[in-house]
Amino acid sequence: MAQKQTRSRFRIDNIVLDKKSNVMSERMNNNRATAGDGVGGKLTASPTELVRHLYVHIPFCARICPYCAFYKELLDRSQTQRFCEAMLAELRQHARDRELVPSTIYFGGGTPTALTTAQLEFLLGGFREELDLSGLIEWTMEANPGSVSANKAALLKRLGVNRISLGVQSWDDELLKLLGREHNAKQAEESFRIFRDEGFHSVSIDLMFGLPGQTLDQWQRTLEKTVALEPDHVSSYCLTYEEDTDFFLRHARREFRQDSDEDAKFFEVTMSILQAAGYEQYEISNYARPGFQSAHNKAYWSGADYLGIGPSAFSTIGLTRSQNICDFRRYADAVLAGKSPIASTEQLTPEIKRAEKIALGLRTCDGASVELLEPFANEAREFVRLGLLRRARDRFILTPEGKALADSVAEAFV
Ligand code: SF4
Repeated sequence: MAQKQTRSRFRIDNIVLDKKSNVMSERMNNNRATAGDGVGGKLTASPTELVRHLYVHIPFCARICPYCAFYKELLDRSQTQRFCEAMLAELRQHARDRELVPSTIYFGGGTPTALTTAQLEFLLGGFREELDLSGLIEWTMEANPGSVSANKAALLKRLGVNRISLGVQSWDDELLKLLGREHNAKQAEESFRIFRDEGFHSVSIDLMFGLPGQTLDQWQRTLEKTVALEPDHVSSYCLTYEEDTDFFLRHARREFRQDSDEDAKFFEVTMSILQAAGYEQYEISNYARPGFQSAHNKAYWSGADYLGIGPSAFSTIGLTRSQNICDFRRYADAVLAGKSPIASTEQLTPEIKRAEKIALGLRTCDGASVELLEPFANEAREFVRLGLLRRARDRFILTPEGKALADSVAEAFV
């Protein structure tokens, strides 16, 4: 489903950042020392190293949305079982190298729920067998309303999934059509109720704003409808026009226009309605009721190590970052032949790690530590003077004005 990237964001690995962070990312990439490219790389890790956070990429979608820049493929039922076998084979490769005792697991995509109930049972059952789940606190599954059923929801619940991220995007059928989504608003609401009826206590709704032709009134109604359903978490992203997408071409042809002042108004309305309804904005694009922040995403934002499984997935362990092959057939061929699916590996520098931690930390309500910003004391002081940052004990935190300029602030610390 991969809504997060495609709306307003691109990813540094599996992490989602605002588009302006592109500048930072490019600078980071320029500073990277590439350790090796091509299939067969290996993450260096001590056999006793614990990996606490797993990301699993399922690339299949029933339909390809014209704005989406994630790695995804049209669902091909003749390939999915072999693909699931390859995912488990990769998991076993990692289990040979290091202890896998996750506290969070996140199945994203693509559309994980595009797999059949039997395939999900095979795949998740395999994960349960291979992993030590004694410390697991959160297992998230991205779900697309077009591919949800009561049977599937019951199975996910039985196998240990305890958090759902539902890609609603909009409650307006015309906008859903424009986005090329396979569901309508009625199906999205039914899917939400199915998960609730099956006993999921942590359900997040994903929304998009800044869409072509979308009015502030429409967006306000979408937020009000969302609040009325009482989800535990809301992710709200602004559309960006990603290269190599149909929307990018239409934007280049001036069929679609982007107005950052207008987007800022949508952002303000979002904060105002969701906060008034009791959701804390714990990250620029993420809001949660007390006790329902995403532990997995918080781990990313704090710079924790994570292991990615599946085609195109990134892993970061210490200063080593690697990415798997971005082609599910070649990925499966490699893994099932006993080879590593890693396509490229790069060594990060401590400076890059620091810059990433600052940029990601500043997006959160916890901000970045004074110690982390110590080399940039003058810049931090200046942002405080401008009213964009405030100091709270040993942290620097964005003010409401600073949130609207989060990426520009982060760039100053690179
Ligand atoms: S459902 Fe649409 S937005 Fe989500 S990953 Fe598939 S193509 Fe992309």
